[in-house]
Amino acid sequence: MIQTECGIFAIISKTNNDSGQLLKNLRKLQHRGRESFGISWFNDGLYDSKFMGVITDEHIDIPLTSTNESNKSDVIYSKNWLGHVRYSTSASIQKLNFSQPIISKKYGFSLAHNGNIPSSVWSKITLKYKYNLSSQDTTDTYVLHGLMETLLSRGISMIDVLKHIIENIEGVYSLVISTVNKTYICRDRFGVRPICYAFGEDVIYISSESCALPNDITAHYDVGPGEIIEINNDLLTVNTIYKYANVNANFCIFELIYFMRDESIVDSLYVKDFKNYIGKILAEQFLQKEFDKDGAIVCGVPQSGILYGTSFSSHCKLDYVQFLERNNNYHLRTFILKTNKQRLEACKQKYCISTDIENKKVILVDDSIVRGNTLKHLISLVKSYKPKEIHFIVASPPIKHTCSYGVDFADIEELIANQLSIKEMVEYFGFDSLTYLDIDKIKQLDFTNKQFCNACFTGNYLF
Ligand code: SF4
Repeated sequence: MIQTECGIFAIISKTNNDSGQLLKNLRKLQHRGRESFGISWFNDGLYDSKFMGVITDEHIDIPLTSTNESNKSDVIYSKNWLGHVRYSTSASIQKLNFSQPIISKKYGFSLAHNGNIPSSVWSKITLKYKYNLSSQDTTDTYVLHGLMETLLSRGISMIDVLKHIIENIEGVYSLVISTVNKTYICRDRFGVRPICYAFGEDVIYISSESCALPNDITAHYDVGPGEIIEINNDLLTVNTIYKYANVNANFCIFELIYFMRDESIVDSLYVKDFKNYIGKILAEQFLQKEFDKDGAIVCGVPQSGILYGTSFSSHCKLDYVQFLERNNNYHLRTFILKTNKQRLEACKQKYCISTDIENKKVILVDDSIVRGNTLKHLISLVKSYKPKEIHFIVASPPIKHTCSYGVDFADIEELIANQLSIKEMVEYFGFDSLTYLDIDKIKQLDFTNKQFCNACFTGNYLF
């Protein structure tokens, strides 16, 4: 099964907008997927447009046009836009065809999906509902789309189709379904991936993360696990039309550790506060070791390790020095790249050392170690500046298991913490010490009222 980590943004408005408005907000979710993006809209019909790569200034500044009968280009306007940024896990599926949203002209809906429905569930669905997949039905989103069309063709209403999905499909999905009159937001019973909505003036926004909402939005609402929200596109009213009775909420802890932007807020939890708290715990763990602080400096690995690093240093009462800098023109997240060669080449271009660290005890802090390829090169780079010691702090427990719910870490044998013990990792990377976040701390994040999925650390899968 194809796995994706994606971002969704939708605008439902009383007034017409061009495509630039949607793309401007959708670009704020680009960290969730850089392989391709797509948009759909309703005006005199249902249409879509898909693009490989990332959203550029040109995409935003030059609105989409259609060609009229006199062969002139008309700017496309709509009150109802849906957009999606996509990341896929396999080179063989880097196709525009698999970009989302996926529209159904026949049944008048457009579907955007963030999450993953594992293959085992997929097989059960196709058997149970007795529908045949066409050759293009090779992503979980196409399976869902096919299922929705099959059920709609049997005269079942859209609301009942969505209830059916929540009640019968054990998978991870935050869905936005756009129709001409109504827009639906539907979240699986585990609530693994985020999705929220917010009101502006004569407009409703839907977003995977609050960071992508316009700056003047001061409040947003998270859709609950197993909840279906219905938006009336004309009246801009929002109603919960269904809640699954036996939810088993388990938000993805890795969303907070890595994916979500620091400025995002989910279920009243600020990602920034979460990272500061983890930095404090890491400091408490590190201070239990014997360590002479003399000549020690702390540095977060840009950008994902910086908040953890600053919090760690202040709780350890150590100087924070951002000696490791990232090339400003470099934006790729290396685990999103497809081959080792690509990742190693990317790492060489990604970092530089901007401060003298010779004979210093350097403590580097980062969010996670996945394959370790980037880190290996990074440590070689740091070593070439002759520090006295290198200590490495990781803001997550060791990632020993793959994710079935929409995050593409690697195959299990590529996960370095699955292959090597901590002692072996210290030798392999050439650290003086390696500190991972204690798994028990993740299980007891008592400052939140949330329960988290931790399957990639523990192997305890939700289903
Ligand atoms: Fe998130 Fe890990 Fe659970 Fe996947 S397995 S949903 S990455 S916590």
